[in-house]
Amino acid sequence: MRVEIIFLSSGGGRWATITQKKATGGFRIHTEKLKMHIDPGPGAVVRMSQIKINPWNTNTLFISHCHPDHYTDGEIIVEAITYGMTKKRGVFIGSLTAVEGFGEYERVISNYHKSKLELAKPLYPGEEIKIYDCKIKATHTKHGDPFGIGFRLETVFGEIGYTSDTEFFPKLIEDFDGVRILIANIVREKNKKVRGHLNSNNAIDLINSMSKKPELLIMNHMGLNMKNPKKEAEYISENTGIDVIPAELGLKIELLNGKYIYKLKKVKI
Ligand SMILES: [Zn+2]
Repeated sequence: MRVEIIFLSSGGGRWATITQKKATGGFRIHTEKLKMHIDPGPGAVVRMSQIKINPWNTNTLFISHCHPDHYTDGEIIVEAITYGMTKKRGVFIGSLTAVEGFGEYERVISNYHKSKLELAKPLYPGEEIKIYDCKIKATHTKHGDPFGIGFRLETVFGEIGYTSDTEFFPKLIEDFDGVRILIANIVREKNKKVRGHLNSNNAIDLINSMSKKPELLIMNHMGLNMKNPKKEAEYISENTGIDVIPAELGLKIELLNGKYIYKLKKVKI
């Protein structure tokens, strides 16, 4: 049995994305059966090649909302899932906006690409479906895209939570209470405010409000202003009492019973 989280990103937001001073390829969760790519922003396939992840080894795409730092490489991921559109295969799960489009938010995967998937399904917060050997439940967000979702994924080694882009609001506490690993998109340091996003102090409040705190917090989707992610991780850790690791291109977390293994494949950005 195997559960791994592999990062192809550390950055997010417009400046990190435009300059690629931080990678924006999203992250992956691999279990025995599920091979899911989450939020493949610009460079996802390039970053996969850099850290030697086999793109064919993908069967699920998750896109949390309609901002380009979360979706631009999505159709290429669908092409990988479907072996270059030659086989009907795999699953695409995302916000209503990402899957079907709504108002000014157009769907991010074309009908042509969706036609080769076995399932293309929007999830609303609170909705849950089974995918391969896992269960995924959509969580709430408060962000620009009104239909944005995060998730709570149930694996054989416990639950993995992903906040996606959201500001802090009480629903998050209930949505992520008791997850084993929490991946949170933390854009700014300490209490530096940024509309629609979390800063470090928000993450501290979120974790300290839970009745059961996660074992590990991974900071993801950091903005260019987040100058020293390691120092920021220490700050969050000191104020919550849990392990905190900043995401990095090439970071792999392997979950085992009661512990996790940290591995880093150092790659030049
Ligand atoms: Zn966003």
